Amino acid sequence: MTAAALAKLLPRRADVHLVESEAIGIVGVGEATLPHIRHFNEGLGIDEADFMAATRATFKLGIDFRDWGKIGDSYIHPFGTFGRGNHEVDFHHYWTRLNQETEAPPLGDFSMAIMMAQLNRFALPDPDPAKLQSTFGYAYQFDATLFAPYLRRIAEGLGARRTEGRIVDVELNGETGDIEAVKLQSGERIEGDLFVDCSGFVSLLLGKTLEEPFEDWSQWLPNDRAVAMPCRTETPLAPLTSVIAMESGWRWRIPLQHRTGNGYVYSSAFISDDAAREALVGAVEGEALAEPRVLKFQAGRRRRSWVRNCIGVGLASGFLEPLESTSIYLIQAAITLLVEFFPEKEISPLDRDEFNRLIDLEYDRIRDFLILHYHVTQRADSPFWDYVRTMSVPDSLKEKMDMFRRHGRVVKYREGVFLDASWIAVYIGQGLVPDSYDMRAQLPTSERLRTAMQAFREEVRAAAEAMPDHRAQIERYCPMAQAA
Ligand SMILES: Cc1cc2nc3c(=O)[nH]c(=O)nc-3n(C[C@H](O)[C@H](O)[C@H](O)COP(=O)(O)OP(=O)(O)OC[C@H]3O[C@@H](n4cnc5c(N)ncnc54)[C@H](O)[C@@H]3O)c2cc1C
Repeated sequence: MTAAALAKLLPRRADVHLVESEAIGIVGVGEATLPHIRHFNEGLGIDEADFMAATRATFKLGIDFRDWGKIGDSYIHPFGTFGRGNHEVDFHHYWTRLNQETEAPPLGDFSMAIMMAQLNRFALPDPDPAKLQSTFGYAYQFDATLFAPYLRRIAEGLGARRTEGRIVDVELNGETGDIEAVKLQSGERIEGDLFVDCSGFVSLLLGKTLEEPFEDWSQWLPNDRAVAMPCRTETPLAPLTSVIAMESGWRWRIPLQHRTGNGYVYSSAFISDDAAREALVGAVEGEALAEPRVLKFQAGRRRRSWVRNCIGVGLASGFLEPLESTSIYLIQAAITLLVEFFPEKEISPLDRDEFNRLIDLEYDRIRDFLILHYHVTQRADSPFWDYVRTMSVPDSLKEKMDMFRRHGRVVKYREGVFLDASWIAVYIGQGLVPDSYDMRAQLPTSERLRTAMQAFREEVRAAAEAMPDHRAQIERYCPMAQAA
């Protein structure tokens, strides 16, 4: 992603040299994304149907959470608004009032993205903002092992040089401490002015060589392993990622065109690898296509992502578990900032500090959002859930939860990925319902509120029902057969 973006967006400033080792390979289980990736692809001039065919992608309208607030519960975090998204008062205030006066239907019934996802329907959003069919966004679920070579071809087509080989040594300048060159197993030495460390968990340059400390967040996010295993798709092709809470973590289910990705993310303090493997194998809905594979990680980030002349992007700079599909987004955010702050000649310490501040904000806010999913739960059926339910959480999150509980207010951000609808979906979905609501939501009479809400709910359902089935839409728009 970084090589392709720099080659495309800074063709006169950046002379890009990409070093990768096929023997080491990529993590490759990152399959679910956020809607922002569409802007990334558009920036590279990628044709959507071609990309989706090549990466066996499906559409994603949100994330289906099951058994989180309590066993048997389910809710969807949608890519889109509740209501029409243009109300004077946010829609959930009206819903809260209705719910207090008479039991309201689930909040999800008032979201286009959720209704489409529940009915397995998909159509591209209408560009007319006045239309109900414009009130949702979408992302993709794709095969990451196909996306990386797809981007590599683009990067090379734009003039990036690529060297296959394993880096075995890093040379530092004796005076400045900057990185001067990397040395490959073959003996080749590659010099550079600026080094982007995309080496994954090993963090070869930023962590290992420059020794930037790692801030450990495992007291709030104790999951440190995942076992992953793809299976044949034997269920309807849902335009959704599913995340199902388990005894000591959660399980993902990501439907692609040619298979379904599955994995159990867990904490080794609460369950053994063998038990997690067994639980995953027992839960997967389809014939297994590979042996289960265990991956290890730690939640947290390097204290700074940009140190000296080295910028960590992706897992080299930090990791937050994939519950909300944020890692690829964090890569994209770092690339966007890198392009903005790309040094002209000298690296400006001011720019470097600002880059680090903005990346920190992205990480911190995602961290709080993830912790919310674990902390706001009634589950008390295992030591894992007892721990996360009762742990102390960052003050920044406590304030947000208190504010929402009191009168449904969502703390606003200027930067950061998750906006109001995301927080509202998770708060209410996990059982944190506001005690009161914005007083302006009292304007309509009870009768008028009830009738308008019911009419809107029916309109949402009718609009979703008029859309094609997700699989049919994919077969028409971007079938695998079109892939080169
Ligand atoms: C269990 C799990 C599930 C995930 N699910 C999602 C998800 O659904 N959505 C999402 O957005 N993200 C997800 N992620 C994260 C996602 O996988 C990563 O963000 C993504 O793979 C990018 O990783 P990366 O490029 O930083 O590192 P990697 O994929 O590890 O790539 C590292 C690269 O560095 C090269 N390299 C390393 N060392 C050397 C060396 N010595 N010499 C030369 N080259 C070297 C490798 O060859 C490779 O090309 C998940 C991660 C895990 C662990």
